[in-house]
Amino acid sequence: MSRAATATIHLGALRHNLERARSLAGRSRVMAVVKADAYGHGLERAYRALRDADAFGVASVQDGQRLRAAGARQRIVVLSGVHEAGELAAARRLKLEPVIHHREQVDLLERDDDPQPLSVWVKIDTGMHRLGFDPDEIPSVAERLAALPALAGRVAWMTHFAASDEPEKPITAAQIAAFERATAGRGGERSLANSAGLVAFPAAHADWVRVGGLLYGVSAFADRVGTDLGFRPAMSLATRLISIKQVARGERIGYAGSFECPTDMEVGIAAIGYGDGYPRHAGPASVVHIDGHAAPVLGRVSMDLVAVDVGRVPSARVGSKVLLWGPELPVERVAAAAGTIGYDLICGVTRRVLFVDDDA
Ligand SMILES: *Cc1c(COP(=O)(O)O)cnc(C)c1O
Repeated sequence: MSRAATATIHLGALRHNLERARSLAGRSRVMAVVKADAYGHGLERAYRALRDADAFGVASVQDGQRLRAAGARQRIVVLSGVHEAGELAAARRLKLEPVIHHREQVDLLERDDDPQPLSVWVKIDTGMHRLGFDPDEIPSVAERLAALPALAGRVAWMTHFAASDEPEKPITAAQIAAFERATAGRGGERSLANSAGLVAFPAAHADWVRVGGLLYGVSAFADRVGTDLGFRPAMSLATRLISIKQVARGERIGYAGSFECPTDMEVGIAAIGYGDGYPRHAGPASVVHIDGHAAPVLGRVSMDLVAVDVGRVPSARVGSKVLLWGPELPVERVAAAAGTIGYDLICGVTRRVLFVDDDA
């Protein structure tokens, strides 16, 4: 028998979330960001639910190729760009739109003598200091790109927010202003907002919003989960109890005996662990759900197993379903108890977990 750990992907939630993103985006178009295998949901599966997106954003040419093979005909932006001539040629053949964020990539475009048209997105570093040109480099980059006939009328502008999930911080307004200065008077489409920007900075919706996390129902805001914002969780991670035993007061549970039973306890063992992507750093506030009741995680999470307190779950039996996260137990809360973010957990479900489509 295979292991019980199952990730159910709610395709209806993905569809709903795309519509919700659209309604928040108003007249701006929605680029569905599907990097990291659609945030761990499976690229081809997510594509089937998100096929009405106005465009897709991927991390690599290879993922763009997978989307084309799945049937995607809309625009596809390669967010990390292309890094050598072969990749540029593949991008062009597949009609992918690379992000240009570094002078090396402008050099690559200048050396390229293929006259076929190519659309590119120039990324401006307005304060995140990860990828992108400094705003004062933009005039010379724009001039170099304008001299390339294959790119004529096909240069778009983008930037990425560092802290749009913390709207009280002044940096996002500064980033918006820097972007406006750098692109003033230049033709071409513009894109600034990610999921948090979609919600918190309507003034930055521009031509395209690039939405990842919220399409999967996951919020980046510390104080609000996806459902608070009208989105639905697209993944449920579940398994079964494979043991229940009584453990006496004073005994310790799991590796290093980090949990000592304060009373006699009824301890359930769920067939899931960090080898499946359940966080090893699940802290003392972590819970799972069994038949709608919260059951606290006890001691260290091991590779294949998690111990939970089933003392308040009268219906718990060997074979009971255990929910690790899903609509009734937001992954953002599970992540917070483990010292990380929901994005990290949904991206980290491993290959040995069985993925099942829920088409409802
Ligand atoms: C990942 C990514 C996004 C999407 O961010 P979310 O917070 O998941 O919405 C948007 N733009 C770029 C450049 C990205 O890398």
